[in-house]
Amino acid sequence: MSDLGLPVKRRVGPDGLHMFDRRTGLNLLFDEVSAPEEEWDRAPRQVSIALTNACDLSCPFCYAPKNPAVLEASRLCAWIDELDAEGCLGVGFGGGEPTLYRHLAPVCRHAADHTGLAVTMTTHAHRFTPQLIDALAGSVHFVRISVDGVGPRYEAIRRRSFVHLVQRIRLIKDAFPFGINCVVNASTLPDLDAVADLAASTGAAELLLLPERPANGRPGSSPHVVDALHRWIASYCGPTPLTMSEGDTGLLPTAQPLPREVGLRSYAHIDAAGMVRRSSYHPAGERVDSSGFIAALDRLRQKGAA
Ligand code: SF4
Repeated sequence: MSDLGLPVKRRVGPDGLHMFDRRTGLNLLFDEVSAPEEEWDRAPRQVSIALTNACDLSCPFCYAPKNPAVLEASRLCAWIDELDAEGCLGVGFGGGEPTLYRHLAPVCRHAADHTGLAVTMTTHAHRFTPQLIDALAGSVHFVRISVDGVGPRYEAIRRRSFVHLVQRIRLIKDAFPFGINCVVNASTLPDLDAVADLAASTGAAELLLLPERPANGRPGSSPHVVDALHRWIASYCGPTPLTMSEGDTGLLPTAQPLPREVGLRSYAHIDAAGMVRRSSYHPAGERVDSSGFIAALDRLRQKGAA
């Protein structure tokens, strides 16, 4: 098993000096530290990476591109090294389904052994086996599991057994800290209480609520659904912390520890074709070529996307 004990990462940005320990998830911000902009770290704080567009499910709201694409492992490891050197704190692997990426375990091992990055992944969880868990143990710091409903509603969306999902969650929870991701739309909204109960009973560290995005000819969550979601959040009393993406929170009171580190300073996405984007569903992108990730990010910024 890797020693996850590389030194605590240090990042300088517009909000001060940020220290991060991937083993515990501890964040410390020294906001009295003020550094000139030329000394700020250049990488986004977090980068999500679609390893492959392949997936063995076909969820109706999926916005992952359907063209075949997969990242080449040695290029990916070079980007991971660059992200680490330029002050990024964590990478989140997704897809498609990341467990279908055949280099998943060695790439995670590379990130754990050679960088101080936190390694997370988002998965439907059905391909997790004791063997896969053994291969990832010690090099993955957090697993996000997609669960948009319980029982028949889950099975109607994902076309997989809910009982099997719960078995996979119990396997994962014994090996990794984990959270639950829930796409919220008119059909999943009624199951929010049950999903929150599942998160609490399985010991999830967070419940990430994702209003459905427009994709595949579907309009995404209506303002009515988003209002109902915000009301549900306002009345929520459960033990699992709730999280949302920047831009989804509306007028909800939220903790914003890094209010000046926004846009491409905060987050970027690399798709499975090797393009860097503001998010996985944002149309504008820049190819990460031999000049590296930061050069592509700078070109994206110059396009006015930051
Ligand atoms: S599991 Fe994820 S990637 Fe696969 S079809 Fe569903 S939403 Fe898309």
